[in-house]
Amino acid sequence: MNNKALTGTRNEIPLVDLKAQYQRLKSQIDPAIQEVIDRTAFIGGQEIKKFEKNFGKYLGEGEVVSCANGTDALEMILTALGIGRGDEVIVPAMSWISTSEVVVTAGAEPIFVDIDPQTYCIDPEAVENAVTKKTKAIIAVHLYGASADLHKLQEIANENNLHLIEDSAQAHGTDFKGEKVGNSCIASAFSFYPGKNLGCYGDGGAVYTRDRELAEKIRMIAHHGQKKKHRHILHGRNSRLDTLQAAILNVKLPHLDDWIEQKRKWAGLYHQKLHGNEAITLPTITEGHSFHLFVIQVKHRQELRNYLKEQDIQTGIHYPKALPFHECYNYKGHRENEFPVAAALQKRTLSLPMYAELTEEKVQTVIRHIKNFLHQ
Ligand SMILES: *Cc1c(COP(=O)(O)O)cnc(C)c1O
Repeated sequence: MNNKALTGTRNEIPLVDLKAQYQRLKSQIDPAIQEVIDRTAFIGGQEIKKFEKNFGKYLGEGEVVSCANGTDALEMILTALGIGRGDEVIVPAMSWISTSEVVVTAGAEPIFVDIDPQTYCIDPEAVENAVTKKTKAIIAVHLYGASADLHKLQEIANENNLHLIEDSAQAHGTDFKGEKVGNSCIASAFSFYPGKNLGCYGDGGAVYTRDRELAEKIRMIAHHGQKKKHRHILHGRNSRLDTLQAAILNVKLPHLDDWIEQKRKWAGLYHQKLHGNEAITLPTITEGHSFHLFVIQVKHRQELRNYLKEQDIQTGIHYPKALPFHECYNYKGHRENEFPVAAALQKRTLSLPMYAELTEEKVQTVIRHIKNFLHQ
């Protein structure tokens, strides 16, 4: 996404409106940033501690280890679990590239499986069929903010002695059976990329886990393998959340649930008004969905996109290519018929404007133009 994609002019309805959110919080965000600068304490410190504590409390009983971005968070989970060379990790065919990229970076092999047509998340049955002697873990992505079927996946993981890891980069605040996602697996990775449910003003990420030992190991890996300064116990790296970013996240976190509530309301309105149109497939409103994105499927996608653009309505495509079909995986020789759900989705998926600061009028405008397009 470029900068233009994240802000709206007065008449435009953007996909996400970060400017509207900032304007509402400006009186708290600006002094929080200034305070960090006044203290010139840019690494570590109280803002980081406060954020880790409060985000941990928000999610459940576990521990949060903040880091530089969501990709690092995922990769450090794999590394800390000892997953690497010769191992296989099962991942969904539709996600952002990080999900499979980290498996390769860790030295293991990503094994793609199809997604469920209702939730768009990894299909447990397909996972079961993909397990081999080399399989060490499953990465479940809560795509667009809908939770994957964590109970079934955990069952499969238990039966086959695998780790269940969650990629929750799109699912801050998503509930699964009344609990925040992140609690029914070994560890969960979050991203604070600006456009996510909870975003900072740059890059940021975190691991959440209820396993204290694993948390400690990941913390060490993120800090050059140190437990104490100048004692490098493990081979680590540098992956830290900036203090400035933590200060911003501390202002935003208390609003997260309200924003999600608001987004659920807009999702409900889209559903109510667009439902019954044969030309489009609406997302299933699963329990606990946080609507990071509101993704429809439509046959004449490019035409609808262009039409909406003419009306100053911005849309997105998440994602135009399923993971197995990217050039970096050409060596696997995958075909579309191996992943029919993901292969259909990549051609039809369209993300409509979705952010808390939308108004009923704006949502109705989007709906009206979609209907106009379908009836022309
Ligand atoms: C955004 C995202 C990531 C990666 O997060 P970064 O902070 O950009 O590294 C990983 N997985 C999914 C599904 C994402 O949407």
